[in-house]
Amino acid sequence: MTLARHGATSRGGVNRQALSAEDIEARRTMIGWARGIGCSAFGDALGNFFIRLEGSRPELAPVLTGSHLDSQPTGGKFDGVYGVLAGFEVLQAIRDSGLVPVRSVEVVSWMNEEGSRFAPGMMGSAGFAGARTLTEILSVRDAGQQSVAEALAELARALPDLPSRPLRTPVHSYIEAHIEQAPVLEARRLPIGIVTGIQGKRTFRATVTGEESHAGTTPHRRRRDALLSATGMVQALEKLCFDPQDITRFTVGMFRVEPNAPSVIPAKVVFSIDIRHESSQRLIELGDAVLPLCSAHAGPCDVRVEELSTAMSLEFPESIRSDIEKAAARLGLGHMRLLSAAGHDARYLNDHCETGMIFIPCLKGVSHHESESATAADLAAGARVLAEVVWARANDLP
Ligand SMILES: [Zn+2]
Repeated sequence: MTLARHGATSRGGVNRQALSAEDIEARRTMIGWARGIGCSAFGDALGNFFIRLEGSRPELAPVLTGSHLDSQPTGGKFDGVYGVLAGFEVLQAIRDSGLVPVRSVEVVSWMNEEGSRFAPGMMGSAGFAGARTLTEILSVRDAGQQSVAEALAELARALPDLPSRPLRTPVHSYIEAHIEQAPVLEARRLPIGIVTGIQGKRTFRATVTGEESHAGTTPHRRRRDALLSATGMVQALEKLCFDPQDITRFTVGMFRVEPNAPSVIPAKVVFSIDIRHESSQRLIELGDAVLPLCSAHAGPCDVRVEELSTAMSLEFPESIRSDIEKAAARLGLGHMRLLSAAGHDARYLNDHCETGMIFIPCLKGVSHHESESATAADLAAGARVLAEVVWARANDLP
């Protein structure tokens, strides 16, 4: 609730976009808390933010946990923040116990998970794990034409005494706690979700080019109506992705018609295609069918299809999933395994070290909304499971 003041909206939500003044203030608050329990804070070249509790063997790769402090423009109090604060709670619990772990334990807030200010999101984790280059990320600009590099320079001016660490430092394991952002756990009345993996996604942009002409005088055989071709493509894609089992997710969320005038035959249509599926094999098949299908329905128009992003479905290692499961069972907390339908920073960390995720229920499964909520009992349950898993891993316990 204290962090939610940084960027608080009048309707109870949070607007704390990546590297904004509000994001910087949230970091400042956390630095104060970190120093209060004798932990150090670090940054890196991408504006990722770390808090470290030193282990008895500081040369060993740390156990890392956390998520992100940035939010959507009309976001809630829990998405991302929960994982950071659950991680910080683990550090506090370790301090309270008087014990010292063998490996250091670190809490991270990844820069720009949401992607609302600088697109696409999961920037800090992708850059940290080497999936995107620093140079490419630094040149991305927000709607006001400010670059990531400029925003990072502001961050450095605001927090000048924060040491910086290299990217790609070794990590022993990464465990991210997050609200589920879907209604499954709430419906089953279970506090803990053991995330099996993350659903894959392929996104495309289709550009259909026809010819602008008079709506009244142009005969049928001379028409090159980009809108009619585009709607034919969307319907064919919908048919392609129709799935009686309701696993395939197909969305055309953006559709732009030019010149968009009532008496002019549309000359150009640009639309987005977003396809998601838990099986990478199926995702490859569906995505590969997009261009041939669009071409087959182009009629007298031309179509160009660009693939914007490809993220295959991934599975977290069984070792970490069973650790989370055993911890929940030991604590007597109801749990189930489930797939994440949304993307998370853990996607990129999974390529860097052994990675897993813990979900807790959120009210009606709602997120990216100011009404986002979760119960204290569920928040605490997730933090307790996280603490068990982090402590065991930091001490190389079975
Ligand atoms: Zn999130």
